[in-house]
Amino acid sequence: MLEKIKLLEKKYSEQYKRIDEIAFENQVKVMNAFRKHRVSDAMFTLSSGYGYGDLGRDVADLLYADVFECESAFVRHNIVSGTHALTIALFGLLRPGDTMLSVGGKPYDTLDEVIGFSGQEGNGSLKDFGISYDQVELKEGKIDFEAVKEKMTPRTKVVYIQRSKGYSTRRTLSSAEIGELVKFVKSIGNAYVVVDNCYGEFVETHEPTYYGADICVGSLIKNPGGGMAESGGYIAGTKKAVELCSYRLTSPGIGIECGASLGQSKNIIKGLFYAPHTTAQALKTAVLAAGLFKDMGFKVNPMPDEQRFDIIQTVSLDSPEQICAFCRGIQKGSPVDSHVTPEPWDMPGYSSQVIMAAGTFVQGASIELSADAPIREPYTVYLQGGLTYESGKIGLIEAAKSVKEKMPG
Ligand SMILES: *Cc1c(COP(=O)(O)O)cnc(C)c1O
Repeated sequence: MLEKIKLLEKKYSEQYKRIDEIAFENQVKVMNAFRKHRVSDAMFTLSSGYGYGDLGRDVADLLYADVFECESAFVRHNIVSGTHALTIALFGLLRPGDTMLSVGGKPYDTLDEVIGFSGQEGNGSLKDFGISYDQVELKEGKIDFEAVKEKMTPRTKVVYIQRSKGYSTRRTLSSAEIGELVKFVKSIGNAYVVVDNCYGEFVETHEPTYYGADICVGSLIKNPGGGMAESGGYIAGTKKAVELCSYRLTSPGIGIECGASLGQSKNIIKGLFYAPHTTAQALKTAVLAAGLFKDMGFKVNPMPDEQRFDIIQTVSLDSPEQICAFCRGIQKGSPVDSHVTPEPWDMPGYSSQVIMAAGTFVQGASIELSADAPIREPYTVYLQGGLTYESGKIGLIEAAKSVKEKMPG
């Protein structure tokens, strides 16, 4: 197996090199921001209570705005997940009578109850507040501009796009493609373009905010937390849109002026420092996974030598047993809970049973090596993360061995 891996590393050396170059370019951006805002250890102290004048929290916001090349941002440890951050953004921008138009097909599963597709009436979804929803499918994996134009009305306040494929088999969109959408939307009306940026951060040299997206949203237990943040989420974008979101984060009139950091600023700032590198480790792990499982005869997406726009690697296996074997192999090759056997379960917010492997230091952190799969055809496993390429490789060796045992012949 190690010989085989060496050959793959040689075969895809151009891809590895490209990943390193992107990481370097992003690291330059991060270092410039750190210098500009004079990050110093006095900022790493904790604040309590209201958290007025918390320097660490404030500087983390400024660093995010700079690195995302936009006007404004906030990043908070008490945003509990990506879904929470997206909810803050949607409720921050949308008002009764408005429409949210998703232009990348149906958003990530956990937004069903936020938008109001499922769940109880009266639970406080957008639908409950009289906010309607419409959707445009991708056309051959690309944004269907004609259809977007047809569906946009004067009530369309948010045009919503998910950069990463999430739990689907669609294409992941590049920041530049989202930039095209921004230009198009702004030429028609003045809707905000909101991007679910989960898994996309630091995979390219610019985020969608660089191309004018009003809002980018993500989770700190994915790429931008660099494997260092204990929890949290961020919202970055234009001054006006971020300000509106900040009033939903706390309350109107307070926004980002308050919020005790409870000692989490150091992890968040250190995580941003690590993020370009950690993301590169995850990408290299993904390239190796693609090469390894492609050679075993499985369908992989993206292909090992394809340009990447997020850290997700999918492998389409042949059966639920192989899915379980894959996830159990990843779990076995993890630094934490390597002795645990993952089982499929009914995860809140997801519509079919899901199996997850996550032997992670931070619970559920998918910038750490993790694999998950809804137990439904086409038996696709979603692999992401790897804090270090070396440990990612070890996880993949276990996964490949484990799947081999479930292959016929
Ligand atoms: C992870 C993710 C989310 C948010 O998921 P949480 O589990 O709530 O953090 C949303 N969209 C996409 C594409 C994601 O990958």
